[in-house]
Amino acid sequence: MTRDDALALDAADPLARFRAAFDLPKGIIYLDGNSLGPPPRATVARLAGVVSEEWGQGLIRSWNTAGWIDAPTRVGGKIARLIGAKASEVVVADSTTVNLFKLTAGALSLQPGRRTILSETGNFPTDLYALQGLAALLPDRARLKSVAPEALIDAIDDDTAVVVLTQVHYKSALRRDMAAVTAAAHAKGALMLWDLSHSAGAIAVDLNGADADLAVGCGYKYLNGGPGAPAYVFVAERHQGEIRSPLTGWMGHAEPFAFEDGYRPAHDIRGQLTGTPSVLGLAALEAGIDLQLEADPAAIEAKGLALADLFIAEVEARADDPDLALASPRDPAQRGLHVAFAHPQGYALVQALIARGIIGDFRSPDIARYGFSPLYLGYAQVWDAAAAFAEVLATRAWDRPEFHARAAVT
Ligand SMILES: *Cc1c(COP(=O)(O)O)cnc(C)c1O
Repeated sequence: MTRDDALALDAADPLARFRAAFDLPKGIIYLDGNSLGPPPRATVARLAGVVSEEWGQGLIRSWNTAGWIDAPTRVGGKIARLIGAKASEVVVADSTTVNLFKLTAGALSLQPGRRTILSETGNFPTDLYALQGLAALLPDRARLKSVAPEALIDAIDDDTAVVVLTQVHYKSALRRDMAAVTAAAHAKGALMLWDLSHSAGAIAVDLNGADADLAVGCGYKYLNGGPGAPAYVFVAERHQGEIRSPLTGWMGHAEPFAFEDGYRPAHDIRGQLTGTPSVLGLAALEAGIDLQLEADPAAIEAKGLALADLFIAEVEARADDPDLALASPRDPAQRGLHVAFAHPQGYALVQALIARGIIGDFRSPDIARYGFSPLYLGYAQVWDAAAAFAEVLATRAWDRPEFHARAAVT
């Protein structure tokens, strides 16, 4: 493809108008929205208003008058539209890590006779760590079994309480067939818990179409909710009466303002709430989601995959470095919206591109990772990024001491 071809794709892009909704720095090609989405312009004004008006002038009255107390269910209801759920099945709370812990414990509460929590090796580390912590807390009740990805389906058995899996892998971008894996879990009587951190806002997700039981996901990646944005929880309606959260706080009580001594769970999605919601975090997340809801999820997925395909094709057409290998599925139907290239100098390569204004990230041990969030990226930008990537490889521009110095966050 020539650069003019890429410009022609930009001119015909049905999502092009969304680029004006962001204020990205000049000279930057931002290929890391899969890790931290940028702020929509509307977020800046929204946060300023929440601080100066709702908090500053409304003070504590704003819990009622500005709808703060309903924000977790209101914003959850909006996220539901992005993931194929009912509004009453999603709530915003805590972090993804905490929610995964809560829902996995909740799955055990629904499966009294079963002990095994099944996941895969190489899953996002915090997911495995949360499951390890839960298993350590309940040595007589739960055991964690992590198997190689290709062995997962066959490892589901009569003792499996819940299968915990990330739909789009954080490194490789390998996309799991949600309906097929969920059906395999159900065939053995197991529940299915999906981590949608790299799915929501990127690919079209249909939790209820796949008959999923439980899900969690992250607010600060494709949803552009801001660093450390609150995360969300999905519990299928059929489980809401019975599931129990292990973190029983007042916001999950049937009547938080009754101030009773004894915990009585809310028997709806609010049963997954714990403590006081992060109002500023919710406000920023809601602004990101409101923008996302203006776009067609199928168009987002199609453009993101096309941008990723363009990047792969242009890098491979130009780079003849034998050490470079595509570490993502080549078939777009099996991929999320990011692309991983393995290279022994992956860290320095990513740094050399950042120095040229092309921001991606590095995932140990050797992955240069680039995300193609469709709302603010264009085809010509991706073409330019691929050309720069190949040029840095060909000239070994990565081989400078400053590009080898590891920062705390990679
Ligand atoms: C980003 C991500 C998380 C993040 O969890 P936090 O609690 O927000 O740190 C968890 N799981 C997966 C699969 C992710 O991609």
